Amino acid sequence: MFTEEAFRGNFLVLSEDVLSIHRTADTMVSDEPKESTAKARGCLMIRLRTKSDIAAVLRERGIRLKKSLGQHFLIDHNLLDFIVRSADVAEPDLVLEIGGGSGLLTRRLAKAAAHVVTVEIDERLAALCRDHTADLHNITLLGCDALESKTALNPDVERAVRSAMESQGAARLKVVANLPYSVSTAVIQALLECPLPIELMVVTVQKEVSEKLAAQPGTGGYGPLSVIVQAHARVEELRRLKPGVFFPQPKITSSVVRLTPTDETLSRIVSYEVFAELVKSLFLHRRKKATGALALAERFKMPREELSAAFDKAGVSNDTRADRLSVKQIVRLANELVEPELSQ
Ligand code: SAH
Repeated sequence: MFTEEAFRGNFLVLSEDVLSIHRTADTMVSDEPKESTAKARGCLMIRLRTKSDIAAVLRERGIRLKKSLGQHFLIDHNLLDFIVRSADVAEPDLVLEIGGGSGLLTRRLAKAAAHVVTVEIDERLAALCRDHTADLHNITLLGCDALESKTALNPDVERAVRSAMESQGAARLKVVANLPYSVSTAVIQALLECPLPIELMVVTVQKEVSEKLAAQPGTGGYGPLSVIVQAHARVEELRRLKPGVFFPQPKITSSVVRLTPTDETLSRIVSYEVFAELVKSLFLHRRKKATGALALAERFKMPREELSAAFDKAGVSNDTRADRLSVKQIVRLANELVEPELSQ
């Protein structure tokens, strides 16, 4: 991981008077004074507003964007504002952003929140994000993968968030991000399952992912992701985004989604581990009867009568197809299946 320290050599640490000039400049129509002051001081401060600004700086630095890392920057300023507004970002907030990219969203978040922790895997973009936010001093930039594995958050991210919350006295933690497509579902799940006290998440994802997040039983999109996410949070799709609002344009439509974590369902789960295993086993054979799907799962192998009794106790018909079980039914079933496991 490379941290802010690693960038020190490239950056002139701005003194308070320069910062205050910057702040004044911020309220002016033009950003010119800010840029020229920064340049005069030898700082790499850059200002990006439009698609052509970004294209120019990428060209200048010889950066070719990688599709594999979902490098599509949101360049519509109204939509950037919409995202910040939808998360109701305000002074007591610490915001975690995954994928700082060009820093367009990072800047807006930092202006509204107490502190922003932004994570960017691509060293070249981390430097760009850093330069673009050089005048704002409430940003912690982590140059690393946000994920440690396909299912777990990088512990460095968790540590940085906790330490920023403590030192900034930030009262609320929110996640706001235009998520990289390739890891959007993994990041959402890892964040919901990590112990950080996240109050709200507003994220941009592929339309197909937002449909899965909100999908109801019996529909095509309903799967493990829907169940896991809905067990943790209320899901709202706020807005669809056409490819043209990103640079470079992706081929797909995106969606802004708000997830509001709640304990309502989680608090009823006796063993999260059993619940998560059950979800996996059920959807491996989603079109089979749930009883049949579980008969095939090593973990839940038990005499037919026992399984049937568990379904009865959970108030779930033995005939129900795996992908028609509601989140509540799956939770009840998981709770019934904990006991036999423990007694083994
Ligand atoms: N928020 C920015 C960038 C969004 S593009 C904007 O809207 O303009 C997504 C960003 O996530 C890219 O910059 C990409 O390099 C970064 N990224 C991709 N995979 C990542 C990962 N595993 N961890 C952290 N950042 C990642």
